[in-house]
Amino acid sequence: MSVDVRVRCLREGCGGIVRFAARDSGEQERDCPRCGDSRRLAIDSDLARGGSVTVCPCCGGREFFLRKDFPQWLGLMIVIDAAIASCVFLYLKMMMWVWIVLGGAVLVDAALYFVTGIATVCYRCRAEFRGVAYNPAHTGFDLATSEKYAQVP
Ligand SMILES: [Zn+2]
Ligand SMILES: [Zn+2]
Repeated sequence: MSVDVRVRCLREGCGGIVRFAARDSGEQERDCPRCGDSRRLAIDSDLARGGSVTVCPCCGGREFFLRKDFPQWLGLMIVIDAAIASCVFLYLKMMMWVWIVLGGAVLVDAALYFVTGIATVCYRCRAEFRGVAYNPAHTGFDLATSEKYAQVP
């Protein structure tokens, strides 16, 4: 799995996302899909090999948070469907199926979690990294840490 890096376009008001596939280390250049501005990124060899992110290649930031790629509506839909199905089985007094449905929903949720993976996001510039090694120093989003960077122009 190659490392996938997504950074925001630097042009003001553009909001485009520029994608880099960091298979090789070194400087890379990609065009913004929205405005065509080119964006340069220096990928270090550790990152290209799928190592963990320690320094952001876009802004030099050293703090990151983890975000699940798993869409919340999908997880909710599975839970609701399972709840409806288990009520039906409960009504029919088919207790074994109630447990199979509820257990199945938990397994599907867990499987989706692993398939969709986790993105590492830079607090400072919101660059996203996928396919990188898990860094135990990174945790979920922390508002206090995020606000530290809110003042950075
Ligand atoms: Zn742009
Ligand atoms: Zn950054």
